[in-house]
Amino acid sequence: MDFKSKIRVIEGFPKEGISFKDVTTLLSDGEAYQAAIKACLEMLEGINYDVVVGPEARGFLIGAPLAVMAQKGFVPIRKPGKLPYETIKHEYFLEYGSDVLEVHKDAIKPGDKVLVVDDLLATGGTAKAVCELIEKLGGEVVGLAFLMELDFLDGRKVLDGYKVLSAINYE
Ligand code: IMP
Repeated sequence: MDFKSKIRVIEGFPKEGISFKDVTTLLSDGEAYQAAIKACLEMLEGINYDVVVGPEARGFLIGAPLAVMAQKGFVPIRKPGKLPYETIKHEYFLEYGSDVLEVHKDAIKPGDKVLVVDDLLATGGTAKAVCELIEKLGGEVVGLAFLMELDFLDGRKVLDGYKVLSAINYE
């Protein structure tokens, strides 16, 4: 399937100079959504993982259906104050200021083989922070899977040493 034709591109969102990939138009097309999840599963063949981890919010939209189809558990990573049980936090630094991510401290056990899933790899800052959070709990990141990747931002460099896979590439 030509996935790019299903993804709307919005120029200048959220700010000037950004060409935003709006995946909602793919998600609202049942056939395209299922095909996209299947494409992600296919690229993961040969990777052995116990659990899928995804950051809010769009990481849930790709990670959760992928986990269901692979018969794996799903662990959400959230912004502060959203998870009800005890959490561990990880602060990470962006171009302007910092951000914090949280996960339930019992959601990942030492030695768990973790697959990180998000909708899009841009600079890699979010994915790197997710990996660091998982590693704080003793989890082993065995791979990162993205539906889309903005190749020109070189997010892979930031994720050097990890296995990074993406189904749709924007050059
Ligand atoms: P990074 O941390 O720079 O790699 O940005 C990746 C995060 O920003 C992901 O969680 C994406 O959901 C979000 N993101 C960045 N650019 C886009 C876009 O063009 N479309 C959808 N999400 C985006």
